[in-house]
Parts: sequence; C-alpha cells; structure tokens
Amino acid sequence: MVGRGPEHRVSALTMACLLVLGGVMGSANLLVEGLVHDGVRRWLYGGAMLLCVVAAVPLLVRQRAGRWQTFGLVLLGDLIYVVVALCMDDPVRHASPLMLLFPALVAAWFLGPWELAVNMVVVTAACLAGLWQLGGPPVGLAVQVGVSALTLNAASVGVFVLRRRVERLLDDTRTLSEQDPLTGLRNRRFLVAQAPRIWRQARRDGTRVAAMVLDLDHFKRLNDAHGHATGDAVLRAVARALSATVRPTDVLARTGGEELVVLGLVADTDEATHLAERLRAAVAACGTAEGPAVTASIGVALTRPVDGEDVTDALWKLIDRADAAMYEAKQRGRDQVATMWAVPARSDVA
Ligand code: GH3
Ligand code: MG
Ligand code: MG
Repeated sequence: MVGRGPEHRVSALTMACLLVLGGVMGSANLLVEGLVHDGVRRWLYGGAMLLCVVAAVPLLVRQRAGRWQTFGLVLLGDLIYVVVALCMDDPVRHASPLMLLFPALVAAWFLGPWELAVNMVVVTAACLAGLWQLGGPPVGLAVQVGVSALTLNAASVGVFVLRRRVERLLDDTRTLSEQDPLTGLRNRRFLVAQAPRIWRQARRDGTRVAAMVLDLDHFKRLNDAHGHATGDAVLRAVARALSATVRPTDVLARTGGEELVVLGLVADTDEATHLAERLRAAVAACGTAEGPAVTASIGVALTRPVDGEDVTDALWKLIDRADAAMYEAKQRGRDQVATMWAVPARSDVA
C-alpha cells in the first residue's frame, strides 16, 4: 500500500470499509432512545449516515480513488463529525473529537502536504464547531479545542512523516536492488523488468529490439598488470563513457563481471550496427583518456516482437544470439562489432 498512492485498490477498499462501518454503526444510534435529538436534527443525522454509506459505493465499484476524491472524502469525514456532534443529545459522551482521527489519518497516509495542511485547519474548525455547544467560559472552550486539535494534528503529522520515511526507504531499496554498486549502472534485474515495456513499444511502433552484448577484451590481463583497483576504475570509466553514448531510451546494464548489455529499439540492421560501432569507439577512447588501454568486443542481434510471446524468454534468446556474435568478434581479433541477424528456425525476426 505504501508509496502507490490513493489509486491503489487496498486504500480504496479501506476507505470504503471505514465509511460503511461508520455509517452503519452511526445509524444504530438512531435505534437507541435519547441518543440523537428529535426533529430536524434526527433527519440531518440520518442523512449524514446515509451519505457515509453512499460515498462508499463508488469506491467499492471502481476499487480506486484519485487524490481529489480522497481529499473530498476526508473533508466529508470532518463534516460528518460536526453533524454528529450537533445532533447528539450528549455530545461529550457520544461525539468525541477523536472521531476526526479517521479522516486525519487517511489524509496523512494518502494525501500530499497541502491537503494535509488544509485538513489540519478544517480539523481545528471542526473541533471548535463540535465543542462549541458545550458552553462554559471561552478560555475553557479554547483550551479544549486547542488540546483536541493539537492531539489530532500532531498524530496526523507524525503519520505523514513516518509515511514519507517509509516511502523514501522503499524508493532507495528499489533503486539499490536495480543498480550495480560498482559502476552505478542498472543491473540484470532492471534489464528483465524493462523488457516488457520495450517489447510493447516495439510492437506499437513497428520497430525492432536490438541487444548488444559488450565484453571487455583481455580484462584479466589488465587486472593482472595494473591491479584489481585499477580494473575497477576502468570499469567505472567504461560505464561513464557508455552512459554518455547510448540514447536516452536505451537500457544499459552490467549483467556480469566485465559484461554489459544495451537494449534498445532500432529501425533496421544499419542503425543497430552504427550504434554498436559508436559504443565500441567510446570504450576504446575512454581507455586511452582515463587509464590503461581497454577495448570491447560487441555482439549485436535483433528481434521483431510478436504478439503473445513470453518476453523474458524472448529477451534471453535475443541476448544469447548477441552473446554468440560477441564471441565471434573475440575470435576475429577483438575490439570489433559482430552481428547475428539470422535466427535459426524462425522467420519472424530480422
Ligand atoms: P576476453 O578478451 O576473452 O574477454 O578476456 P578476459 O580476460 O576479459 O576474459 P575472462 O572472462 O577470462 O576474464 C574476465 C575477467 O574480468 C576476470 C576478472 O578478473 C575480471 N573481472 C570481472 N569482474 C570484475 C570486477 O568487478 N572488477 C575487476 N577489476 N575485474 C573484474
Ligand atoms: Mg567475460
Ligand atoms: Mg572479457
């Protein structure tokens, strides 16, 4: 539920349950003699309870609530407290300002800072309206309103801060889980997660998906000659150079020790070869500029996505073909691009 916003199904159903429960339990008060004022106020009270239940219907049907809808429901909750407090014979016992805790917590957990601030003001006004009829000296009323509003608002601010921390923690965890710690590039998990989006876009645009597998040449030798720390620095420099070379929509991931994959959309084999050649040149240039010389062998393969295929399976088949092409580049002497356009026993690709 955390971090997914008020449109999430669970949050909509939670609010619907609160509304239905509040409406049904509040309606039960009508059956108890002497709890609710007679006359117009009884009708007003009944109407408020009915409104509670009716407001839950769109949430139950759509199973989602937008930001404005949630804000509206929070304000409705505040209003219903005021109506209940005005309609009860003994508001001290049967209409505690604690009722406002429900809308206050919904605002704190699901809404933004502005809506929360507005609700804090409304909560204070609702406390004043609800407690007004108790009478007594103004100072006593001010203290009662102040204590109630402060307690409710402090609780909602506390929940809001807690929620922000949890959201940030989850965001950081998600980022870390999709990031390679050495180079800061995306990792294999991110690559797999992005595949369905890339496949969808390729089908929509009628383009092809290109996979480029890059493997640094003689990297073991480089480590042996310059040390592992220098090898790490070279890997980071290569990552920077490649990040600056790929197109914004391409996914660049470190999938293994000194192996990287670029996944992107291309119109044809020429475009794929051109991009791979730019990547090869970027690696070769960064080696001479920032440390020991380094080069990469690159294998390229293309696929045209088809409806109904298993995207993860198609992704790994594509990468396997690019990997085979990369080994061919190694055999031909390294620091070059090799392609594998043909797909064995398949006619729908390239
Ligand atoms: P080839 O041109 O055939 O690819 O030769 P290679 O030496 O690059 O290939 P091989 O797979 O034999 O060795 C890969 C080396 O990459 C082995 C390992 O020491 C090094 N390596 C893998 N991950 C890291 C890393 O995170 N940091 C450093 N410094 N080296 C790494
Ligand atoms: Mg390797
Ligand atoms: Mg290598």
